Formats: sequence, structure tokens, C-alpha cells
Amino acid sequence: MKYFALGIESSCDDTAASIVSSDREILSNIVLSQVKEHLPYKGVVPEIASRAHMNYLDFAIKQALLDANLSLDEISCIAATGGPGLIGGIIVGTMYGKAISSVTKKPYIAINHLEGHALTSRLVENIQYPYLLLLASGGHCQFIAVLSLGEYMLLGQTLDDAVGEAFDKVGKMLGFDYPGGPAIEKFAKNGDHKRFKFPKSMCDRKGCDMSFSGLKTAVRTLIIKEIENLSKQTINDICASFQFTIAEILKYKLSEAIKLYEKIAQAKTIVISGGVAANQYIINELRNSLGGSDYKLFSPPMNLCTDNAAMIAWAGMERFLAGKFSNLDFCPKARWSLYSNPVISVKAGTHVIDL
Ligand code: AMP
Ligand code: MG
Repeated sequence: MKYFALGIESSCDDTAASIVSSDREILSNIVLSQVKEHLPYKGVVPEIASRAHMNYLDFAIKQALLDANLSLDEISCIAATGGPGLIGGIIVGTMYGKAISSVTKKPYIAINHLEGHALTSRLVENIQYPYLLLLASGGHCQFIAVLSLGEYMLLGQTLDDAVGEAFDKVGKMLGFDYPGGPAIEKFAKNGDHKRFKFPKSMCDRKGCDMSFSGLKTAVRTLIIKEIENLSKQTINDICASFQFTIAEILKYKLSEAIKLYEKIAQAKTIVISGGVAANQYIINELRNSLGGSDYKLFSPPMNLCTDNAAMIAWAGMERFLAGKFSNLDFCPKARWSLYSNPVISVKAGTHVIDL
């Protein structure tokens, strides 16, 4: 029997609705970006985001059903992002999801946004559990051992800025529109990555915790110094040097993450997900760094790397098939750890695997 999940995503600045089938088809994938609303502020304004979700979500869901050529009665379950993220938007999506579930009497499933990113590769490539995930987005930078549905082990994470946040902040310093990542990748193509040497924080340490705020500060200091001569070429060179440094940090930390991962799982699969995985330079650098090893690196297509509802619908489908539903009294969460019930845990900060 074929099932259909409706997914709703509203945890940041994209209002999204999607329908996926249990056969891994994406029947519709509507993403209404709020970039225009937030552009004057060069960053996401939570209050504006919540109101925009209110305005857009109804249309997004109707369009997702139309594109999929399905009615609400034909949907098997409703999955909505229940956190973490900007709470106003999460409340909007959660209430829509619960309301549709109440009316249709179909199961409601609250999805952790990070689980959505973590499982996207299973929707696209049917990747088998377990695998090592690098989640690199605007809000997160984490290495995670994905062991099975609902069983995730945090191996290491950024101690300050998320990697996408570092791209956005550097982009803002250089006068680019939000989000800065795509512009930096574009300008870096014409830049010399050797011109500026930036610090590779925490690359003298074992383990896969990371830090990007020192790098961001170094770029700021350089921009202030070069402000009189900030030619087009200098901007290109800053972008290339910054992006090169990020790739160097991630390559080293990936090698450290592999060491930890190998203590708990054997499957030689690495997945990179989240908005930064849209960066082809970084993906190629990471892939090349795996060189002759047996590891295979996958990353979802660009439109499924950044926030979308297909990943939420798919996580919902996996939970639906496993009979893991949520109660209608589920409380939306601004913070929601993916690791609340770890089967295996890493002792904070020590990287000692506690079996
Ligand atoms: P997400 O948080 O998963 O929605 O992803 C958004 C983040 O991904 C933002 O911080 C963007 O700057 C970043 N991003 C998107 N495209 C790129 C890219 N090509 N290079 C680097 N970062 C990117
Ligand atoms: Mg995200």
C-alpha cells in the first residue's frame, strides 16, 4: 500500500509545504521564501517571519495538494516542524498541522527540524542506516552518528557560530544581501584563496567540536584594515580565502569525526546536509579529502539542502510507517535537542564514547 505524508516547515524564514509518498516520490515541494520581507534588515526578524508564515502557509498547503493532485482525505499523516527554531513560526505551522489532523482524523506528527535534515538523504538516495552526518546550516554545525530512526548520537558541534551563520555574517560585512553563502561562493570563484591567511580555530585539537567566530572576527579585522582598498578583486580574494579556511576546518574535523564514528558503526557512508551543503566547492573539497578511503559522500540536491518541507514530510513518513505519532497536546519548542534519548552518549566535551 502506498501512503502520502503532508509536511509543513515554518521554523525560520521559509514557508514550505510538501507531499511525499512512501515510495520516496516528492509529489510537490512548495517553498515560499521570505527573503524580500527580511532584506531591509539584513537578517531574519522573528516577528516579521511569524506574520509572513500566517500569510503564506494556507496558500503553500493548498498548492502542495494541487501539485500532487491529492485531496486532504488521501493524505495518510500530517507532519509539521515542532522545533527547534523561531517559536512564532513554529507555532503557526504546528497549529495548522494539528488543525488539519483534527479535521481529517489523520495522525499528527511533530518533527524535529534537525531530524528532517538528517533523513533527507534517505528520501533522495535511499541511504541505509547507519551513517555519519555533517549537518551544516544557518543555525547548526554538528557531526552526528545517525544510527536508526530516532537514534542519533552527537559526536561534535560548533561551540559558537554555525557555519552558515559565519557565511552570512561575512557576507553582511562585505555588503552582500542575506543569505551571504551563495554570494560568497560566487565571488570566491574569481578569487585567490592564498592571498589572506585566516585562523583555523580548533584544528590543533582532537575531536570534532568546531569554532567559527574567531575566523569571522579575523575577516572583520581584515576588512577594516583594507577598507580604503576594498577593490572587486580584494573582495573576491577575501571570499576565496574565507571559504578555503572553512573547507580546511571541515576537512580536518571530518577526519576526526570519522575516528569517533568508527568506534560505534561500520557503514562507510557520509552525508552532508543543511544549507551549506549547497556549496559545491566545500562538497568537492570534502569528497577529495576522503581520497582512497572506502567512504562514500552523499549530499542532497541543492533545493533539499536548504530548508524545505519535503524533508519534514519524509521524516513524518518514516515515523508514520514506524507507528510513532505525536499527541495533539504537543508543545512547540524553540529549543529541541535531537539527542534527548540517546542510546549511546558522548560525554560532553571529552569525546569519550560511553557505551
Ligand atoms: P538552512 O539553515 O539549512 O536553511 O540553510 C541556510 C544557510 O545556508 C544560510 O546560512 C546560507 O548562507 C547557507 N548557504 C546557502 N547556500 C550556500 C552556499 N552556496 N555556500 C555557503 N553557504 C550557503
Ligand atoms: Mg535548516
